[in-house]
Amino acid sequence: MFGKMVEVAPNVYAYIQGKGEWFVNNAGLIVGERYAILIDTLSNEQRTAEMIDKIREVTDKPVRILVNTHGHPDHVWTNHMFNAIAICHENARKETTTAFVEIYQTLFPDLDFSGAKITPQDVTFERTLKIYAGREIYLKHPGVAHTTGDCYVYLPEEKVVFCGDLLFAKPCTPLALGGSIRGYIKALDELLSLDAEIYVPGHGEVAGKEEVSAAKEYLEFVYEEARKRLERGMVWYEAALDIDLGEYRDWRESERIVGNIARAYAELKGEEMQFSDIVEAAKRMLEYGKKLR
Ligand SMILES: [Zn+2]
Repeated sequence: MFGKMVEVAPNVYAYIQGKGEWFVNNAGLIVGERYAILIDTLSNEQRTAEMIDKIREVTDKPVRILVNTHGHPDHVWTNHMFNAIAICHENARKETTTAFVEIYQTLFPDLDFSGAKITPQDVTFERTLKIYAGREIYLKHPGVAHTTGDCYVYLPEEKVVFCGDLLFAKPCTPLALGGSIRGYIKALDELLSLDAEIYVPGHGEVAGKEEVSAAKEYLEFVYEEARKRLERGMVWYEAALDIDLGEYRDWRESERIVGNIARAYAELKGEEMQFSDIVEAAKRMLEYGKKLR
């Protein structure tokens, strides 16, 4: 058994998987009068088949709309298992179509990506989009954060936010390698400013404002520690290993400090990270992760 369906408001569900480790992401389900809206898919067909069983336990309405919170593989790779119109931010669609299964299988040889497929989304938006499905559902892009094409799904009446990977709920470690540390901090401020109480993270258990603040503080810590070491002339990888994570050492996937520092350094130096730079930093991060375990 991989996941559990948690009702966070009437007819609004979080599908929570595992402890939020690599590629073990959450999804969301909003059941309307005529159809259901699914937020994100999963990283392989077996996990998704189980999620579909869990969806059927709570509703017989067809999933007609699928929202992808960003283009990372774990959130989009089983889009093909739903006969739904898929919606995401324009950049998330670009990232979906360039995240090749082979690259990830090489980076994560132990993970199961069976049946994973790239299925480009049908509808994209740039800033906001509103869905009326018996309730008001807002999709908003807060700028570059975890990736270049994140969006969150906000239900004002229910005070619920599906954050995608804008939120890794502690003890899950946030990852900004493919986005922006400063942008991520700004996006978390935006999430905190919402009139909301329940924040469904992309990884980790159902959370609240406390977990959003904790993720923001972690990213502020990362940026500041990177800045100090860049000033001292350290190279990024050296800096990443030099940092004393303190309370964050016990967070899951703490090796993400490596990817986060690579990104922080690029931002502090005003440099772009090319795709090959990101892959290189990801390799180093995962090698470091193996040493930690
Ligand atoms: Zn992600």
